[in-house]
Amino acid sequence: MNTSTFNSEDMDFESRYVDPHYKSEDDASVEYSLRPRTLNEYIGQEKVKENLKVYIDAAKRRGEPMDHVLLYGPPGLGKTTLAGIIAAEMGVDIRVTSGPAIEKQGDLVALLTNLNDGDVLFIDEIHRLSRQVEEILYPAMEDGAVDLIIGKGPSAQSIRLDLPKFTLVGATTRAGQITAPLRDRFGVILRLELYTPEELAGIVRRSAGVLEIGIDEDGATELASRSRGTPRIANRLLKRARDFAEVVGNGTITKETAELALARMEIDPLGLDNIDRMLLTAMIKNYNGGPVGLDTIAAAIGEEAITIEDVYEPYLMQIGFLSRTPRGRMVTPAGYRHLGFNYEDKSGGRADNVQQKLFDD
Ligand code: ADP
Repeated sequence: MNTSTFNSEDMDFESRYVDPHYKSEDDASVEYSLRPRTLNEYIGQEKVKENLKVYIDAAKRRGEPMDHVLLYGPPGLGKTTLAGIIAAEMGVDIRVTSGPAIEKQGDLVALLTNLNDGDVLFIDEIHRLSRQVEEILYPAMEDGAVDLIIGKGPSAQSIRLDLPKFTLVGATTRAGQITAPLRDRFGVILRLELYTPEELAGIVRRSAGVLEIGIDEDGATELASRSRGTPRIANRLLKRARDFAEVVGNGTITKETAELALARMEIDPLGLDNIDRMLLTAMIKNYNGGPVGLDTIAAAIGEEAITIEDVYEPYLMQIGFLSRTPRGRMVTPAGYRHLGFNYEDKSGGRADNVQQKLFDD
């Protein structure tokens, strides 16, 4: 086993093809055109869809707006898309904003008072609302009103302003960071899961249809199996593979052109890119495969702990390469094998760990 230590100097986070966040190269108008508009068009997330269908039908039958909904799960899984679908299925308009964009209480009051009856207000990254802004939301969600303080000092007065009826759809990558009072005010809390390769192949075929890209079954399967369970990545790989198919093939994405495109993007057969491999390699070489704390990994590869938790870990854990233990993250035997390291060489380290454990106990 190569025992030189790892350093993160050459890593290029910016051009990461498998970043599940929106990037300017995704092109907002293309991303918009790829968004399913109805629950039937929305592929996968069966449990979430079933529940939503019931809530939407019930609200429509009562002639009332739907209960407030909190959607949580890793980026790029379709939370914004679902918010749009809720509005479309309810036959109302949607206003889209995000936690960091609402700086002052007044910003939120303006948004709320400008809604029409029944509208959906979508707040992405809702865990990033400031405490003051969040306090405006509580009565707005619960009583359909906001309390405003007019004036200062002893002459200050509180007035209550009634709001149009609305549905708040909040999205977050980290349910754990939502304060309890805010979480308690959502009637519906839904968790989105990473997609299966079959579901992603369906999404790739659908997007290819919308963008008029030729792709065969094997080409769609190949792209889907390397998209880390994330539709946004699947759509991005589809667009890059199209370029290759046009230049080196006959324009249709086949297994071969997909493989070529993925190889050029340095995405391996399981969808791991350089940064995933470096993360695992750093853990193996520098920390004997773990257990190692999140902050230590973050420092070793020069990435923020929060990004590692939201972006890299969910997929590495889903494919069984990384495990979380109370003492830190560990690379699994499968992770060792995939990167070409011998798990058995770890035995020296294992003994160390055992000794360490004796001290800990
Ligand atoms: P999030 O808000 O969770 O980051 P988005 O709703 O912006 O994710 O979805 C990212 C892209 O993935 C969208 O352009 C959409 O086309 C696509 N997408 C997401 N979920 C689905 C789905 N279930 N079926 C088809 N396309 C999807």
